Formats: sequence, C-alpha cells, structure tokens
Amino acid sequence: MSELNSKQWFTEIFQPSGSAFSLKIHQKLTEVQSPFQHIEIYQTTDFGNLMVIDGCTMVSTRENFLYHEMMSHPALFTHPNPKNVVIIGGGDCGTLREVLKHRSVESVYQIDIDEQVTRLAEQYFPELCASNHDPRAFIMFDDGIKFMQETAAESVDVIIVDSTDPVGPGEGLFNRAFYQSCLQALKPGGILVQQSESPLIHMGLLNDMRQAMKDAGFAALQTLNFPQMIYPSGWWTCTMARKDMVFAGFRRDDVMDAEFETDYYNADIHQAALALPNFMRRQLVG
Ligand code: SAM
Repeated sequence: MSELNSKQWFTEIFQPSGSAFSLKIHQKLTEVQSPFQHIEIYQTTDFGNLMVIDGCTMVSTRENFLYHEMMSHPALFTHPNPKNVVIIGGGDCGTLREVLKHRSVESVYQIDIDEQVTRLAEQYFPELCASNHDPRAFIMFDDGIKFMQETAAESVDVIIVDSTDPVGPGEGLFNRAFYQSCLQALKPGGILVQQSESPLIHMGLLNDMRQAMKDAGFAALQTLNFPQMIYPSGWWTCTMARKDMVFAGFRRDDVMDAEFETDYYNADIHQAALALPNFMRRQLVG
C-alpha cells in the first residue's frame, strides 16, 4: 500500500489468517498508552469513530449495534428472569446500554480493567455511554478475573464477558479456572455468555473455550453466530454456557413484546443465530 494510501486508511493485519481489514480515515483523533493497552481513536470517512486497542479494531460508531445486541439480548431473553448481571470488559459501555433496556434487570456491574477505555468512550462514543448514569449501573475498573473470584456464590443471573482477545490482559478470561469462578458466582440456571471469536478462523480457540467451560462444570453450551464487519473474517460468535440445566428455547413472546428498540436482534435473528453451518456442527466440541 503506498505511503499516501496508508495515511488515508486504518488497516488491521491479521497474520494468522493472512487477511487484513481497512477503513478509510480522515484523521487519528487521539491515542493513549494506558497501564494495560494502547488505545487509538480514529475519525473514519464512513463509519463514524473507530476505537482500536493494541492494533485490533474494537468498535465503530456505525456498526457496533450488531455486536452489542448479540452479546446481550440472546442471553437475557434465554434466562427466565434476569435481575443481576455482570459484564466483564465492555469498557466502551455499548453492552451495558443494551442490558439496561431490560426492565427485569435490577443491577449491572461492569468491570473493565482499563478506565481509559471508558473515558475515551465517553468522549468519542457518547451514544454508547447514554445509560451510564442509570441507578442500576455500577461501573468499576478492576481485573475481571479477580472480580469473579471474589463474587459471592450464587449471586448472579447472567455474566457477559465482552473482552478483548485471549492475549494480554484478556488472556485469563478464557480458561477453566475463570469459568469455575463464573460457575460458582452464578445462581442455578444462570448463564455465562462470552464473545467466542470467528468460526471461520478461530475454530481451535472456540473449541478450547467450549471444552474449558464443560470442564469447569457447565451443563450445556450454545454458540450463536452473527455478522461482525470490523473483526477478522467479518463473522463472529458468542457462546452461552448454562449452570445446572440445559437450554430450552428462549422467551420468544417477550422478545416480540419488547418495549425497547433494537437494530439487529429480533426473535427470528435469535433463532437463526443458533443455526450452525455443517462445518461447525462437525467440528464443535462439548
Ligand atoms: N468488542 C470487543 C471485542 O470483541 O474485541 C471488546 C470490546 S471491549 C473494548 C474489550 C475490553 O476488555 C477492553 O476495554 C479491555 O480493557 C477489557 N479487558 C481485557 N482484559 C480484561 C480483564 N482481565 N478484566 C477486565 N476487562 C478486561
């Protein structure tokens, strides 16, 4: 790519799959080296603002609804009556905003290790932070691994792990020990949902996560797939794990009657996200 072009484009090169993703930019708006990661914010020509952490795209103004809706509503509408929710990561606050749309939710604790992510989100993605002052929201800055270890047993209905990839501070959020701490924190029937990477290029990692969830003692797993344009391959998943019981559908009628708006998620999308292509059916463990 010529020098001129490299000034006009942000590009994430994903070596493991020999692929790359670019967005055309007007300018870099800011960058911060926090104690945990390097965070950049770009103004793009067509996707609003873009947040990048350690060189990986995180969220853009234009398309983040896909991811934030799919990281929250399937799990919350699968649970019969979610009251107490914990978000690990999620520092851009988009997932928090979606969770707070559910009237049944009485408390949401958001634990991100890096306060700088939220401070930059407040400035460059204010629409994602619109619910941060909801009295039900408790925004904390700590290591999610430690938080889950210290969470009271059987105190949480849904845990959402909206973390970076399993490298750097996020690495410890993808193993059996962490899942065991999540299991003990969940009430019977509780649900853990975690972003579980791309089915096309991360099947090994996805299966490692599923196996570790089963080894930790979760009774049942469900992986959902959905489009996610700015992440490697443009095709993403989240995986739900349930304590003490299997999955038995979701509250379709409540989705249909929901008083809040979504831009991607609906009952048919929920059902469709559970439909897995044959290569996933063949390869998924657990
Ligand atoms: N949607 C993005 C994705 O799938 O890559 C994730 C968005 S969110 C910005 C990811 C967050 O995980 C970051 O804010 C990062 O600080 C946080 N994070 C990484 N490791 C963490 C840990 N051990 N405890 C809490 N938060 C962590």
